[in-house]
Amino acid sequence: MRCPFCSSDNTRVLESRAIDDGAAIRRRRECAECSKRFTSYERLEQLPIIVIKSNLNKEVFSREKLLKSIVRACSKTQLSTLTIDRIVDDVESEIYKKYHREISSQELGSLVMKRLKEADALAYIRYASIFKNFTSLVEFIDEIKEMEDSLLGLKFEDLDFNDELIEDKN
Ligand SMILES: [Zn+2]
Repeated sequence: MRCPFCSSDNTRVLESRAIDDGAAIRRRRECAECSKRFTSYERLEQLPIIVIKSNLNKEVFSREKLLKSIVRACSKTQLSTLTIDRIVDDVESEIYKKYHREISSQELGSLVMKRLKEADALAYIRYASIFKNFTSLVEFIDEIKEMEDSLLGLKFEDLDFNDELIEDKN
């Protein structure tokens, strides 16, 4: 690796250390010409995840977009930013591990819902109403009935379905 100070190619590694739980390697290097030291990092190349939409269009998975849609579904809920962040991390790594980096928007929605269902009933129902494509009202009501206990005390206005969230589906 070239020295950032004198551009010499004659550098050597002094120390290598795994960081970020082994996701990266940090190397201390020294230039044999000017003796200055510098650090380099080695990480796996992150290959993109492809999301296949219901109209069969493909798009590159965007962590930001997923985060935004969850944040919207979670407004006026008790879910912390940290929890939402974890849900996104979790979903992302599941797509890498189980879906070989290609997932339908439908499956992606299910991964999110599975986690929201455990985390917050209101956020779950908002998200589910958009992404689950219930084939009938009865099916949706059944789903809600299943969660009856966690929904006690919620008002219908709390659901606050909005057009922005619906736009994200397509
Ligand atoms: Zn140098």
